[in-house]
Amino acid sequence: MKKIILRSGKEQSLKRFHPWVFSGAIDNMEDTPDEGESVHLFSLTGECLGTGHYQTGSIAIRMISFRQEEPSDSFWTEKFRKALQLREKAGLYGGGNTNVFRLVNAEGDGCPGLIADYYNGTVVLQAHSHGFHRITEQLVRVLRQIFGNQLTVFNKSPLNPSRKSDEGKPEASETPGTIVDENGNRFRVDWAGGQKTGFFIDQRENRKLLEHYSKGMKVLNMFSYTGGFSVYALRGGASAVHTVDSSSPAINLANENITLNFPGDDRNSSFCNEAFDYFRDTKEKYDIIVLDPPAFAKNRKSQNNALQAYRRLNARALEFLAPGGLLFTFSCSQVVSRENFRQAVYSAALQNGREISILHQLSQGADHPVNIYHPEGEYLKGLVLRVL
Ligand code: SAH
Repeated sequence: MKKIILRSGKEQSLKRFHPWVFSGAIDNMEDTPDEGESVHLFSLTGECLGTGHYQTGSIAIRMISFRQEEPSDSFWTEKFRKALQLREKAGLYGGGNTNVFRLVNAEGDGCPGLIADYYNGTVVLQAHSHGFHRITEQLVRVLRQIFGNQLTVFNKSPLNPSRKSDEGKPEASETPGTIVDENGNRFRVDWAGGQKTGFFIDQRENRKLLEHYSKGMKVLNMFSYTGGFSVYALRGGASAVHTVDSSSPAINLANENITLNFPGDDRNSSFCNEAFDYFRDTKEKYDIIVLDPPAFAKNRKSQNNALQAYRRLNARALEFLAPGGLLFTFSCSQVVSRENFRQAVYSAALQNGREISILHQLSQGADHPVNIYHPEGEYLKGLVLRVL
């Protein structure tokens, strides 16, 4: 395997298990590796610091081990088995009423650049690095060793332009999706056409919390996507649910999911509408409002605009909360910190001028582990506010 030697002092972050090496840290390479090729890293003094995937760009190496490894099938099998064991312990696999979970959460599972989501017998892979893109065939083989040969694998990698089966890539499933169970609720997942890998698995615990508070409540689910929060609110005994999203395929899927769980139930009304337009036109007051917008900031430059957008959105939503109501508010922007998001919501609260307290501080579920040495992985932030 090719060797990369780091500049003096640049081994320190690897000794602290940081999963990335920036291009400026490289002293020399004995031979330039191919895109995505596995490499061994050494300090100037000749100490091996680990194994990673090489790629041109500012992040030059993504670490897959802090030891000198040959990433064979058994290396990946052991990594994925560990990941699966964690999900089993969390009650997400092997019986129970949930068969959808994140199997591999990039840096959080020691696989920077790889997302793998399990949907009731299908794994949807997203390789965000050349390293994982290069070995998708191996990954499929290993996943089938773990889950059995009947496992379907769908390759939804951004680097896979055809996004379907072709030579050297895993077979694409012909099925457009499947039905999954999450805490006994049923959802149709469209991994081929849907956003991300088809379903926002990271909100599972937060949806469950909404269920807990929903009895007899009138709930607005703003930015509903496939209706996850709406289904849980109905399960919890909400008196009425309003489901809003600006995308008509999302609203169609939300309606389908609500009918799948509650056929003939007329407590839900869905609206294909833009959030601020909805707030402009509605006269309703709600006991609970859920705000789960798409990431407002894609990079550090847009951070300030994003914070303003969170402030405006939250301030607007607060106007529609009945006294004593609850606001479930989220940010999934990776570059917006928990503190900054809270500050934006604080500004919205000030603007609204009501007594407000924080009941819960929310994050992603245990199947989205965060590498403590890579805190950027903690992207989902949520607050539950009680508004008097
Ligand atoms: N809460 C969802 C995930 C939300 S993803 C869940 O639990 O699965 C964000 C959603 O916001 C997407 O479905 C997108 O279509 C919708 N959206 C984006 N911009 C919007 C806008 N301005 N108004 C209303 N919906 C919007």
